[in-house]
Formats: sequence, C-alpha cells, structure tokens
Amino acid sequence: MFQKILIANRGEIACRVAQTARRLGVRTVAVYSEADAQAAHVGACDEAVPIGGLAAKDSYLQWQRILDAAKATGAQAVHPGYGFLSENEDFARACAAAGLVFIGPPPEAIAAMGSKAAAKALMAEAGVPLVPGYHGSNNDPQFLLGQAEAIGFPVLIKASAGGGGRGMRRVDRAEDFVAALASCQREAAASFGNDHVLVERYVTRPRHIEIQVFADTQGQCVYLFERDCSVQRRHQKVLEEAPAPGLSAERRAEMGAAAVAAAQAVGYVGAGTVEFIVEGDEDGDIRPAAGPSQGGAAPSGGSGSVGAHRFYFMEMNTRLQVEHPVTEAITGLDLVEWQLRVAAGQPLPRRQDELRIHGHAIEARICAENPDAGFLPATGTLQVLHWPAHVAFQRGGDALTPAPVRVDAGVRQGDAISPHYDSMVAKLIVWGEDRAQALARLDAALRDTHIVGLATNVAFLRRVVGSRAFATADLDTALIERERPALFGHAGLPLEVAAAGVVAHQLHREQALEGTDPWSRRDGWRLHGGARRRIDLALGGEHHGFMLARLHDGALRLGLGEQHWPLSWRALGEDRYEVLLAGQRHMLAVHAAGETLAVFGEHGSLELSEYDPIAHAADQAGGGGSLTAPMPGKVVALLVQAGATVTAGQPLAVMEAMKMEHTLHAPRDGVVGELLYAVGDQVSEGAALLTLAGE
Ligand code: ADP
Ligand code: ADP
Ligand code: MG
Repeated sequence: MFQKILIANRGEIACRVAQTARRLGVRTVAVYSEADAQAAHVGACDEAVPIGGLAAKDSYLQWQRILDAAKATGAQAVHPGYGFLSENEDFARACAAAGLVFIGPPPEAIAAMGSKAAAKALMAEAGVPLVPGYHGSNNDPQFLLGQAEAIGFPVLIKASAGGGGRGMRRVDRAEDFVAALASCQREAAASFGNDHVLVERYVTRPRHIEIQVFADTQGQCVYLFERDCSVQRRHQKVLEEAPAPGLSAERRAEMGAAAVAAAQAVGYVGAGTVEFIVEGDEDGDIRPAAGPSQGGAAPSGGSGSVGAHRFYFMEMNTRLQVEHPVTEAITGLDLVEWQLRVAAGQPLPRRQDELRIHGHAIEARICAENPDAGFLPATGTLQVLHWPAHVAFQRGGDALTPAPVRVDAGVRQGDAISPHYDSMVAKLIVWGEDRAQALARLDAALRDTHIVGLATNVAFLRRVVGSRAFATADLDTALIERERPALFGHAGLPLEVAAAGVVAHQLHREQALEGTDPWSRRDGWRLHGGARRRIDLALGGEHHGFMLARLHDGALRLGLGEQHWPLSWRALGEDRYEVLLAGQRHMLAVHAAGETLAVFGEHGSLELSEYDPIAHAADQAGGGGSLTAPMPGKVVALLVQAGATVTAGQPLAVMEAMKMEHTLHAPRDGVVGELLYAVGDQVSEGAALLTLAGE
C-alpha cells in the first residue's frame, strides 16, 4: 500500500478520498486554488499545496503543477476524484512518466471510452447491446439526416466527446434535424473542442441504469450491481438509488455480464461505471436489446421481444462516480479502499460470488440552484448549514449495517459557494432495510436539512421524493417533467406560519435573556390589562405589519390586517418549536443568519427579516432600468441590439455559469438602450448587462 497520495480534486470527493486514506494509514496531500485556501478538503488532508488561480483551468486542471506538488511532497500516487482530470488520458500518461501511480484505469482504457462514438464501435465488437444508431466518422449533415430517417424519429444527436449532459439534442422531425445538428456541433466545439457527433434512436420512457464494475491488474473483473439514476434534470442526475426497483436477478446478472464484457474489452483496471439506457414499458422485466442495430453495431443475442424492456450501452465513465455511496451502502464495501488496493497492485478484495446486496440506498444531490428558475445555479455564503443526525463515511473492510443517514460534504457553515466550480454542495445518502424505509428516511433527512444564504434544491428534492411517481418507483428520465405541477412553483411556508415561528423564537430568546415572562414588563406594550406589540417583518423587501396580542388569560393572538389567529408555542430545544396557529400544529426550526430569520417548516421555508423602512425607501429610489446578471458568469450570446423594442419575457441574453447556460429574459416591455458587455465578457453578479428604457 502507498504511504502517501496526492488528491487532485476539491470539495466532497477530495474529503471522501482523504477519509479512507486516513483509515488505511495513508498520508494525504491536498492541492488547492486561491479560492480554496480555507476549504474543507485542505483541512481534511495532512499536507496542502497551492496550485494557482480561482478558475479550474488555472488550478485544478494545471497538471504540471499537480505533478510538481506530488514530487515535492513525496506522494507516490494521484487520486483524480471525478470531473477535472479524472478522465484525461494525457494526465494519466504524465503521471506514469513522472513515476507516479494514477489511481484509475490505464490511459488506453480512458482513451478507448473517451469518445462515445469510438467506444460504441468497440462495444459492438464485444457483443454489448447498443442503441440503434450511427456512430461512424461521416458527419455530413445530409448523410446524418439520412441516417436519422432510417433510424426513425425521435432521434438524439450526441457530442462524441460530450459529458455532464451537454451537447445533446433530441430531434422529433426531419425538418428540424439540420438546425439541431448545427447547434449541437457548436456547443460541442465550444465545450469539448471537438464537434464530432453521433446519432441514435431516442429511447422512449428511458431509465438510466448503470453497473459499477471493478477490475484488478491480475485480470479479475467483477460488478458491484447497479444504480438507477433515472431521475434527472437537463440530462443530469438528481436522485440515484440501488438496487434498481423492479430489476430481476436474471436481468441484473445479464447487465452485469455485459458491463464486465465492456470493461474487459478495453483492458480495464480500477473502478468504472458502464451506463445503460433501458427502454421503458408498461410493466415487465428488463431485457437485453435484440435485432441488428444500424451503423455496423452487432448487438448481443437476447430474448427481447417487441415492447419488452431492453437495455443498451450508453457510455462508460472511467472513474469513481458521484453516486458511488449508494453502492457502498448496499454492499458494505469502501470503493475508495478498493481503488487504492487495486492501484497498489493488490487483487480485488472479493470474488463475484462473495458480493451481496443488502437493503436499499438512495442518494440526493444537494445543489446550490433555483429549481423554479430553470435550475439556475446560485452562489453565496452558507450562512446556515444544518444537517440531520448523520455520520460521515467511516466503514471498515467488512459489511456492517450501514448508517441510516450519511452526509458527504466538502463545505462547512460559513463557506462560500463560488461560481468557479460546480454547484453540488453535498450528498445526502440514506439506507434502509427496503426501499420504503430508505424513502421515509430520505424524506425526514431532507426535511431536517436547512441551508440559509443561497438558493438550494432541498425543498424541491423533497417534493420529488414525495411524488407519486417516485414513491411508486414509476421511474424514467422524464419523471421531473411529468410531475411538473407537483414539483415547481410552490409557495414555501405560509407567511403567517413563518411569522408565528419568528414570534416563538423571539419570545423564547427574551425569556432566556430576562429569565422572566417578557409580558410581565411594565412598558408601552401593555394595553387594557392585556398587551399588544407590533412585529414588522420584511419578506423579499416587502413590509408585513403583524400585531401580536396577549389576552387577559395569557392566550396569544397573531394578527395581520383584518385576520387574526390564536397562537401558542413550545420550545423543543435547539431552535426548534412546536407552534399551534389557528388550531393547526406546525413543527418549525428557526435559524438566525445576520439580520435574517429563516423559518423551516414541514413543507418549505421562508426568510424573514425585521422591516427597515429607511432601507426600503432607498431600494425603491435606486431601481434603474437594466437587465442584470443574476450570477457571475460569462456572456455567451446577446440576442438583441441597441434600439430594439422588446416585450416582457423575451430572451435578451445568454450567460454561462457553473457549466450551464442560462437565458435571461426582459423583466418588462421596453426599448434596449446600451449593450454594456460583449459576447465572451466575464461579468459579476448584479452587473447591468444592458439598459432598458420604458416605452
Ligand atoms: P456522474 O457521471 O459521476 O454521475 P456527473 O455526470 O454529474 O456525475 O459528472 C461527474 C463530475 O464530472 C461532476 O463534477 C461534473 O461536474 C463533472 N463533469 C461531467 N462532465 C463534465 C465535462 N464535460 N466537463 C467538465 N466536468 C464535467
Ligand atoms: P453524458 O456523457 O452527458 O452523461 P450520456 O450518453 O451518459 O451523456 O447520456 C446522459 C443522459 O441522456 C442519460 O442518462 C439519459 O437520460 C439521456 N439519454 C442518453 N441517450 C439517450 C437515448 N438514446 N434516448 C433517450 N435518452 C438518452
Ligand atoms: Mg453519462
């Protein structure tokens, strides 16, 4: 085993790798950018080396500096995590040339799977089932259109070098094909420096089921079962679970064998994931694809009949996957430990017949983003970061009963989520004896995850988990779209309930400070033997004047305008309250963050602050006519020119931030004045992009 390794990554995955290394007695070296000098992953390692500027291209992708850091600290191996350099064959080669072990597959295996098109050609030879499609080298638009027509619409155009859900276009009609192809190629060239595409049949009601494989240098290769990652947004995973609901033991074994064949075809070593797309159907089991596919692919045999579930190879990710914890939870294994052992030349710790599935696990990716605004990434400071009771990963070599709740985080309260890296804040992983128990634990864990300071998807995740489709495991990649009405546009917590939480919190504080009942004070609040006080709260800058009255018998009433409700409350400890408002019971948690009081209820949260009339007046006066950047990022397109008359909601500009594109729309009707930035410019949050005069 190694004495010291360098972790060429940041965030939760760097912390995760460091935990296992520590348990195995392996020393760790962190690398960090200027933005990350104080980051959690730096503290999680034994040593740390700065490697450059804020942007990934100036630090985490600067592989010469990373190799120099490994040399300088005497590290023997490099763990690349996921993202960044993890699937970069040149980096893997450079490690070897520098005398370092790359904790990952051989560069040839990365290269073989690096192009989706080339990988498919290889998989066809290995007899792995493929989606019918064309993955050859001819990229002439008319030729590809001909292929699309032969495949039959809808088709999917994919960037061969694509990843992270980017560079994909679904095309439903022949007349849209050429334009979609051009746009896919533009994005592919810009994102991956390579505009080669492939075309394949768009699988309807698809499920994404992937197989975790592991191979050692002695020629052994096993599969650690599957993960169902069908719940996606923008082709990116949101919830992942293992095992896949409804997958029979026979089909699991067939998919496992296909995945092992895929890995062996490229001489794979280490941890890898073979992603399959599975054709949906009303019911029944999943079958391998049958019948010849186009473009020279020769699928394996199989019993697939028309309308039955079929599975097809999509791509292989030659690294540890974000969602590896669900596999750890159901197998009782530490996949990072396996990676280190294999890289050190040891044999796989288990044979296929020694691997078992125990229980059910689900992971939720907690991201800094606003689901109601098209999943726009958010940046800011984690003023409050409150987790449910949980453990960090700490398993030994043998299967124990997994923790019911595990949190893999690379951030702490007070840390900033910056625009330089991706928007995933942490992962919440739950385990249960069965899916129902895992689901219940995930629901409770999300309810008790409280983040203040920036927008997150926590409440949205909870609605997805609670949706009928997810609860009944009616899974496919369009689940979020199908369940749209139930998932989006929900008011968080009713205003008066949040206000009741603020009242409970305030009175509780006052009691603690004064050691007496605040209502017994002889001050201006008293009136007619009872007492009244005004509570001026602001919600998003808007004023709400509540009135709190205490009656002769000590009962409280909360009023807003003409309405009023009987109120009582009880502190449950640690900023948690049970509130009865108009006979309705609410369990609330109140977190103070600066001037803000964030109230979390059963079904959402609300951030209230004390209303300040002076600040409000200043805000109103300063409302200039412009379109502002909602987050820091790069301007990638300006869709209007100076002088253009625009209507509210019209797309005006496109920005890119945190690896996603966002269209900015006109806030109201008007005439575009000046364009203040050009395409390619970096802009900071709140910057005016263009001026907009009223008509
Ligand atoms: P996984 O495939 O492990 O389930 P993702 O597909 O979301 O998870 O990608 C894993 C990591 O790789 C994430 O950090 C993601 O941001 C990063 N990533 C994926 N594709 C790309 C890409 N094309 N360019 C840069 N980073 C990427
Ligand atoms: P990436 O490298 O971006 O992860 P993938 O090829 O793995 O690209 O595809 C990402 C997602 O796109 C899949 O999880 C699935 O939801 C969807 N997808 C991919 N291929 C197809 C297809 N042929 N039909 C329907 N959906 C697909
Ligand atoms: Mg993929």
